[in-house]
Amino acid sequence: MAALAANRDPASIQLIAVSKTRPASAIRTAWENGIRVMGESYVQEAVDKISQLTDYPIEWHFIGPIQTNKTRLIAEHFDWVHSIDRLKIAQRLNDQRQKGLPPLNVCIQINISAEASKSGVYVDDVDELAAAIKELPHLQLRGLMAIPSRTPDRNEQHQFFSAVTETRQRLNNQGFNLDTLSMGMSDDLEMAIRAGATHVRIGTAIFGVRA
Ligand SMILES: *Cc1c(COP(=O)(O)O)cnc(C)c1O
Repeated sequence: MAALAANRDPASIQLIAVSKTRPASAIRTAWENGIRVMGESYVQEAVDKISQLTDYPIEWHFIGPIQTNKTRLIAEHFDWVHSIDRLKIAQRLNDQRQKGLPPLNVCIQINISAEASKSGVYVDDVDELAAAIKELPHLQLRGLMAIPSRTPDRNEQHQFFSAVTETRQRLNNQGFNLDTLSMGMSDDLEMAIRAGATHVRIGTAIFGVRA
């Protein structure tokens, strides 16, 4: 619906069902309803569920904050990581990615509303981090992720998301080849899609309110 309202092809937008805090049974039900891509934020919880769901060829996306001591589990169990915000994390994921697996798809998380409390790199620092990640052979830099500060003001939402889109354009003009904009959650997906999101991360609107 949001894609059509924004004059965009729904097939150009990947829905990530954010299954954090949901039991494996809820993920099975989502799978039976056609959902193939899941997002998780807590490493140990996610790995426990992934181990219970090996019969389901789900594409797993890690979207939460990353501590250095958790990178190995992430590198071993996930297909994508959206929340890279420093080189040390990228280097560890690169070194710990098993050689038999395809490169880990990664996004740099940017702190688009420049709040001290939010994770992600500032826009001014993204070029340097992107250039360094591009050199890591077991990572594939796909794009940018952002979680703007919550606001009910749709114009403000659109401005934040557009700034992410412009940052990707600026990087691509320098020779990067970034195809991904991971932005938009249950409350702001419409404006994210209007601004060019390629991946929306939706929890509540699929699974209901988290306990
Ligand atoms: C929890 C979470 C979501 C989903 O949020 P909803 O409001 O439930 O749609 C999306 N992205 C990230 C990074 C999250 O942690």
